[in-house]
Amino acid sequence: MTSRRRKDYYEILGIDKNAKQEDIKKAYRKLARKYHPDGVPEGEKKQAEEKFKEISEAYEVLGDLKKRQEYDQGVKFFESGFRPGADSGPGFSFDFSFEDVGQFSDVFDLFGFGKKGHGYESPERGRDIQYNIQLSFEQALKGASVKINVVREDVCFKCGGTGAKAGTFPKKCLACGGRGQVAQNQGFFSITRPCPQCLGKGVVIDVPCPSCRGTGRAKKTESVTIKVPAGVTDGSKIRFPGKGEAGYKGGPAGDLYIITKVKPHPFFKRDGSNILLVLPITFTEASLGTKIKVPTTNGAVSLKIPAGTQEEQIFRLKGKGAPRLKGLGKGDMLIKIKIIIPKNLSVDEKEILKKFAEKNKDNPRKHLENLM
Ligand SMILES: [Zn+2]
Ligand SMILES: [Zn+2]
Repeated sequence: MTSRRRKDYYEILGIDKNAKQEDIKKAYRKLARKYHPDGVPEGEKKQAEEKFKEISEAYEVLGDLKKRQEYDQGVKFFESGFRPGADSGPGFSFDFSFEDVGQFSDVFDLFGFGKKGHGYESPERGRDIQYNIQLSFEQALKGASVKINVVREDVCFKCGGTGAKAGTFPKKCLACGGRGQVAQNQGFFSITRPCPQCLGKGVVIDVPCPSCRGTGRAKKTESVTIKVPAGVTDGSKIRFPGKGEAGYKGGPAGDLYIITKVKPHPFFKRDGSNILLVLPITFTEASLGTKIKVPTTNGAVSLKIPAGTQEEQIFRLKGKGAPRLKGLGKGDMLIKIKIIIPKNLSVDEKEILKKFAEKNKDNPRKHLENLM
């Protein structure tokens, strides 16, 4: 049994025990720049690498307020040999947060990895992702909160997206000097092609992150509550900027698009912000006029049917439709008349209608007479 003396992370970073997080970060950045193996002469590389590992380890703990507190309290698991780069055994869980990723990308930035015009791969925007959500007719009208599980590619938590095992960092590719391209002379011409050593990335990874196999990416399932605004229709597209897949090399994240699928209502039909209802009335109601109680999506209203109302005539109830997605107010409710002709008349009813027909001298086919 060997007992390792606990390392003094404060001493390693050359800071006071009461240093602010901001100062810890500053101290780390300064040291990381000084000891990064890419930046030192050949003879001092080995030593610098050791030192670099040490300061990375110190910063991983002190740079995170929670872990720093644990460290200050002498929590055991750090003592028992947490070392970035060392294989983390089973049951080891390292609680990365988005802030950790931020810290890692600071380091990433520090050496210019992923910087545009630096020869490395340029930053690239993450892909957009799209999800459908199913809504009832009423939810589309009133708005809704819908929980969905979104699976998206994110920056790998374990390595912060560098693809290198925690505690190590990608190194500048020596074959291309970090440019990602190599020149090849062919007769009079010089052709540049992607560097075969680093596949155009400009950096090489000695020990790939075991969690993401060096890709720096990880699938992440996230429960997202989608606030659906009132008034969406079937096929409405809601954009959530930056909620798509993570960007590459420090590029911005893509967007999340939610497409709303709205279940049809048996009687109400949406036409944008207007709502259509077919209203059947009898031929006597159409002829004589009446008042009818009509349902809307927001309570019943009384509709006056004037005498002589025709088939397919439309009555407009202003502001009784769906909320407008863009702009103010609501659409209209459109009531379309369907006149029902009675089919099975009794003897009495027939008598009455025959008398009516004798009195009525209307000829609705006058305009066709010239054609015959
Ligand atoms: Zn290369
Ligand atoms: Zn990783």
